[in-house]
Amino acid sequence: MSPRARLPRQDCAHCGRHERCTRIVLEQPVCQRCTLRFARTAQACPGCANIRVLAFYDGDRRPSCATCTGNEAVYACTDCGREDSPWGRLCGHCALKEKATALLSGPDGGIHPQLRPVHEALVCGPRPQTTLYWFTRSTGPSVLAAMARGDIEISHATFEAMPADKTHNYLRDLLAALGVLPPFHAELERVTPWLNQLLSTLPDEHAEVLNRFARWQVLRRLRREEQRGTLTHGAISAARATIVVTARFLGWLTEHRMDLADLTQDDLDRYAEQHRARVTALRPFLTWCEATDLGRELSPPKRPDLQPAVTLPDEDRWRHVQLLLHDDTIRLYTRIAGLFVLLYAQPLARVCRMRVDQITVTAAGITRATFDTYPIELPDPLDHLVRTHLTRRGQASYASRPDTWLFPGGIPGKHLVTENIRSQLVARGIQPLAARNAAMFQLASTMPTPILAEILGLSPTTATRWAALAARDWSTYTALRDRALQQ
Ligand SMILES: [Zn+2]
Ligand SMILES: [Zn+2]
Ligand SMILES: [Zn+2]
Repeated sequence: MSPRARLPRQDCAHCGRHERCTRIVLEQPVCQRCTLRFARTAQACPGCANIRVLAFYDGDRRPSCATCTGNEAVYACTDCGREDSPWGRLCGHCALKEKATALLSGPDGGIHPQLRPVHEALVCGPRPQTTLYWFTRSTGPSVLAAMARGDIEISHATFEAMPADKTHNYLRDLLAALGVLPPFHAELERVTPWLNQLLSTLPDEHAEVLNRFARWQVLRRLRREEQRGTLTHGAISAARATIVVTARFLGWLTEHRMDLADLTQDDLDRYAEQHRARVTALRPFLTWCEATDLGRELSPPKRPDLQPAVTLPDEDRWRHVQLLLHDDTIRLYTRIAGLFVLLYAQPLARVCRMRVDQITVTAAGITRATFDTYPIELPDPLDHLVRTHLTRRGQASYASRPDTWLFPGGIPGKHLVTENIRSQLVARGIQPLAARNAAMFQLASTMPTPILAEILGLSPTTATRWAALAARDWSTYTALRDRALQQ
């Protein structure tokens, strides 16, 4: 017979149920369920100010902790003594440490050296209960355990051999974010299998050239961008387009019984005539051919001049600004990101990649954002929104702690995806590209072009195009700026 079964049933002083009462709380017998509820509601003790379970009266009849009232510390973790985070006989922190250590220990009993950062991330997380719950509900921990035992390799190849489901993707991202696995980008990793498939459909001589171009030029550039943290969905799409257009161009050569080595400028111009839409995407290949002596010195066909287009009237733009400034039903990060687009002409993809250190708050409470070189003071109430956001973004789960993104995403170590914010803006009638163009037009008509370029991080060509559209003149601005600088 267990000790509890021997207890007589009586009325619980808290819930009134006729139960076996296991504990005395505030001098009254309470049932098992009420004891648990009590144990989970630790508060500041009036005697010692520690966060404790206040189940005893002190001399002034104030509910106080066991220590302050000379009672046995029945609610304390048997390892560390804290009472604010119960998990059985231990606290959540100690329970998690015990479980994580057992999970990540190798055959020799110590934590697998490569998995130490995982152990630290798990144990130091702000909400141990959430992680303990993950241990019981997910198959992810068993993969970690198998890695610790040495049953499976700690590598990207291991994950490539597993189903690419949510659990495995999460774990892979976590290991990459913690530096256990080399950095990796899921969308980028999908390009290689896709390329191999495409190459298998081409004649050998074309496959060979395209393979070299794609791997050494296109993919290498994407990997560099990935390492710098500037890789976007758009860049990957553009890279795929370049590869496809190049494959078609090689097909066109065969069709016209031409060799890449004999290609003349006339041939190229003829191709450009027939395939206007593909010319831009072909430029990287032609440039590469020239650099690698594969082709002659051919000038890549001229890109048709891209004129900026403004389709959003300024009053609509200000209506959107008002909406985002004041509508609390829209998520805060969406409002801020949208306002950066609408007010500062920032591309949404770039806003998503902003880091926390691009925002500074002075002691006087002035909030500045540095989009490119120079900090810009944010006006009220945008500054207020940004400051509130800064206090909230720290609540991301343990797995995204190592990142410093201004808009951390759900995937460990990654920023929010552009689509997340874009879809929310579109749902409120705001088209980010049109909004950005309208903002650029407005800024170009009020701000000297070189300053526009420097502050917002535009290329001088882009800034000039916008200034031209806003019927402004380069030279006027240069003179204006020089005068400003002299003052
Ligand atoms: Zn009860
Ligand atoms: Zn106390
Ligand atoms: Zn403890």
